Amino acid sequence: MELHGTSTINTQNHLEIGGVDTVTLAKEYGTPLYIYDVAAIRQHARGFKETFEKAKVSAQVAYASKAFSSIAMYELINEEGLSLDVVSAGELYTAVKAGFPAERIHFHGNNKTEAELRYAIDQNVGCYVIDNFHEIELLNRLAKELGTKVVALLRVTPGVGAHTHEFITTGQDDSKFGFGLTNGQTEEAIQRVLATDTITLKGVHCHIGSQIFEMDGFIAAADRIIDQMVIWNEKYNYKTEVLNLGGGFGIHYTDEDQPLEPETYVANIITEVQAKISANQLAMPEIWIEPGRSLVGEAGTTLYTVGSSKDVPDVRRYVAVDGGMGDNIRPALYDAKYSAVLANKMADQADTTVSIAGKYCESGDMLIWDIPLPNPQPNDLLAIFSTGAYSYSMASNYNRVPRAAVVFVEHGEHQLVVKRETFEDIIQNDLHLTKR
Ligand SMILES: *Cc1c(COP(=O)(O)O)cnc(C)c1O
Repeated sequence: MELHGTSTINTQNHLEIGGVDTVTLAKEYGTPLYIYDVAAIRQHARGFKETFEKAKVSAQVAYASKAFSSIAMYELINEEGLSLDVVSAGELYTAVKAGFPAERIHFHGNNKTEAELRYAIDQNVGCYVIDNFHEIELLNRLAKELGTKVVALLRVTPGVGAHTHEFITTGQDDSKFGFGLTNGQTEEAIQRVLATDTITLKGVHCHIGSQIFEMDGFIAAADRIIDQMVIWNEKYNYKTEVLNLGGGFGIHYTDEDQPLEPETYVANIITEVQAKISANQLAMPEIWIEPGRSLVGEAGTTLYTVGSSKDVPDVRRYVAVDGGMGDNIRPALYDAKYSAVLANKMADQADTTVSIAGKYCESGDMLIWDIPLPNPQPNDLLAIFSTGAYSYSMASNYNRVPRAAVVFVEHGEHQLVVKRETFEDIIQNDLHLTKR
């Protein structure tokens, strides 16, 4: 197993992250525990942002915060000078509480409610990524009523879908998100937005998929949109100032995954957009991107304590840990693959193949199938890597298990950024029967 970020093995043969011994962290905060390598987050953030700066291309790098949202995370993203994508009033509320500048917040979603939009307008959110005709009407009505103007992009479906190594082009744009790019919907949306005097249309947005390892999907999407920019310019004298190509940049979960570096994704996007824009004699738009997983995924590690195990003779050995689908739903939901080590036995030979089970009452609650480890025993610490994205943010209280704590580590120091839930938290919204 390749170690990423600042992870190393210390002299006690323990896994160390950010200069902090994970065995110490388990003692101090308990398990399951989400550990974030802050230096790794900063490095990825800078990789995206500085590549635009070095190329002198106007850009915004917005952290797609549904990957992992918390007040401290938003403060860190603000420190790095990135923008922020939110997809609900709850994420926006968290950003407000973190003091995140509203002008760098972008509001996404295919069904933003009236209450959410009112709250966002009240907070002066910097950009709305409009998803559908209903939202154009709603945003226009609310902006008028509240006596203000808003800035927006239109989300389009360029007929390009990408996941890992394949990208597919579909004629019919069959997605719940966005306006069809070439079936007339986007043109209609542009005309309707231009007809309002409340919405300033900055440009367009697309997001073609997730965990993408190749450039061809991004390039195809950019090309298709720029082709339309030519048409919008000719037909409506509409000049697209922002081209937002979304997120989806891949990360390592296992050694099979071979993502590109943030710098490489950005450099390739810049090259393509500049070439295509100048070939069409258009003004260079700002390029916006929205990495989520690629900013926080590899930076996160989940630490568990090993408990029971079960041998199924001639089949496999199940080893259970003190967490599972409640803190990481991805294996159950997407068949996601992860790699792991015993954090307290880093130098021991991985001579036993086991399958890591969770503690939740569901047969599908498995974290990893068939992984070689140094014969795990009760009270060993299992560290699963690359759990920083879509783990805590998708965590649940299934089986009334309190959600785990989150700790940040950097330069040999650790700080708790999300407390472990208590049983009091678990019942805080429960009410006693009053009518019998
Ligand atoms: C989820 C999402 C992203 C981030 O995707 P990752 O795969 O985490 O990079 C970016 N943009 C939009 C619109 C999204 O919905």
